[in-house]
Amino acid sequence: MNLSDHFTLEELTASQTASRFNIDNTPSEEIVAELTRLAAFLEGVRALLGAPITISSGYRSLELNARIGGASKSQHCEGQAADILAPSYGTPLQVCQAIQGSDLP
Ligand SMILES: [Zn+2]
Repeated sequence: MNLSDHFTLEELTASQTASRFNIDNTPSEEIVAELTRLAAFLEGVRALLGAPITISSGYRSLELNARIGGASKSQHCEGQAADILAPSYGTPLQVCQAIQGSDLP
């Protein structure tokens, strides 16, 4: 399911750990709405970088978050955070610097 032009629900909920441990990582409708907002933001990041973005971790159910040792109040559990890579743009630090220096909210 497409959440925006370049991001799908599947890539924002995929998790190797969830697969390996058979953890349900299906988001609620409320979370899908948050992920849709997140995808719109990521479109802005993608446009800023001029490069494709790979999601390494998006939504995490509470069970999944606990399994991977995520922070107890992680925004990943609210559908409000994604860990990203954009290797054709640069290093993670360069990506952070580009976002920090931009007008993105
Ligand atoms: Zn994160």
